[in-house]
Amino acid sequence: MRIESIALANIVHCTSYIENEKMDDKSPYLHPQYETLSHEELKKLQLERLQATVKHCMNSPFYKKRFEEIGLKPEDIKSLDDVRKIPFTTKQDLRDTYPFGIASVPLRECVRLHSSSGTTGNPTVILHTKKDLDEWANQVARNLWMVGLRPDDVFQNSSGYGMFTGGLGFQYGAEKLGMLTVPAAAGNSLRQIKFIKDFGTTAIHAVPSYVTRLYEVMQEEGVDPRKDTKLKVLAIGAEPHSEEQRKRIEQMMGVKAYNSFGMSEMCGPGVGFECQEQNGLHFWEDYYIVEIVDPETLEPVPDGEIGELVLTTLCREAMPLLRYRTRDLTRVLGRTCPCGRNHIRLDRMRGRSDDMMVLRGVNIFPIQIEKILMQFKELANNYLITLTTDENNDNMTVEVELEELFTDDFPRLLALEKEIKRRLKDEILLTPHVKLVPKGSLPVSEGKAVRVVDKRKVYQ
Ligand code: AMP
Ligand code: ZN
Repeated sequence: MRIESIALANIVHCTSYIENEKMDDKSPYLHPQYETLSHEELKKLQLERLQATVKHCMNSPFYKKRFEEIGLKPEDIKSLDDVRKIPFTTKQDLRDTYPFGIASVPLRECVRLHSSSGTTGNPTVILHTKKDLDEWANQVARNLWMVGLRPDDVFQNSSGYGMFTGGLGFQYGAEKLGMLTVPAAAGNSLRQIKFIKDFGTTAIHAVPSYVTRLYEVMQEEGVDPRKDTKLKVLAIGAEPHSEEQRKRIEQMMGVKAYNSFGMSEMCGPGVGFECQEQNGLHFWEDYYIVEIVDPETLEPVPDGEIGELVLTTLCREAMPLLRYRTRDLTRVLGRTCPCGRNHIRLDRMRGRSDDMMVLRGVNIFPIQIEKILMQFKELANNYLITLTTDENNDNMTVEVELEELFTDDFPRLLALEKEIKRRLKDEILLTPHVKLVPKGSLPVSEGKAVRVVDKRKVYQ
């Protein structure tokens, strides 16, 4: 037996545990044996899986070298706290080892590759074995089940396919749950709406900015999602969005919209998802060890405090990642939930530390601006933040689309603009320029929305 196969055997116990015939439609849980574990049971399972994963990582040239450099051996991981002995893995490490240098299995055992393109340098490559894909589908299926979907539902996946994991990730997960799954992909809204009506779609997954676009087209077509469709659930995620935007989406579409968190490096969607309580994202602790650290000191922060999310995969074969620094900022909301799951609950992401704008010494996240804009019923859903340097001063301009009704009432427009500025100043401590523009005039992307354009002379 080759060394890789022995190591694989070590983590084989994560293997797919759901079989269609075992699904109990009445149960709130798809995997009750994992979803309802107590803290102690979860910790025990995590330690076993961490130890197996670390052993398995010694097949990765990258991790082997890194462990040898600091004299760390897999046997040194004796408790869950020992995870902190392991160095962090960063996106730069993925770039430096491009394309296959972090893999812990030979390429012939891999069946899928996803890649996320960075703005500079090499893209990152994520490899999957068959079992990795199966586990990924299990996570997505678990999430969709958690929000009430069952094999009788019709699931339309209106997110990009291809390298973006939101496509295939939800496709396989929804199929695993047994739903009729429509790979509609993003865009072509008229066709989407026809599918929703003709196929009796009950659930849609899309990035939040695309859901709002879909609704606008529904309005133009005289389609009322409440009356003319069978929709009952939306899964929205892959990009930062505010609670206010979620509420708007729920009001527009007349159904609950659940936040879905994922990242290619961990697998894709499926990593964290809201339950029906909508009180934060449950991150699956049978699949990941979750740490929140201070991004400067890299020390853990107490529950409730914002920090950087660090994830260790516990069930991956092709490319396990140890203490991966996601750059996403969030905080722990709780470790229990009325839904009966004790998997950690995290707040919606503020954005990545790289998304933070520093303007005249003030740190600002796009989501703070969105939160304010979404409170004005006169405003539509699309907005764009542009940063410029004018006469040596850095400035911010917020362009936001108006609902059509208000475009020719100038005194009202001026009053509205003034009020938006005032509320933004309360939130971000600076007064940006505000431009109210007609609905449909700002660019719409079919993938993740681009919210910020930085044209400043000196990049911060
Ligand atoms: P990618 O791997 O290219 O799909 O990007 C993953 C990143 O998207 C994450 O690290 C987050 O920054 C962002 N992201 C994914 N899901 C969410 C979500 N529900 N809320 C906020 N940001 C998200
Ligand atoms: Zn819950």
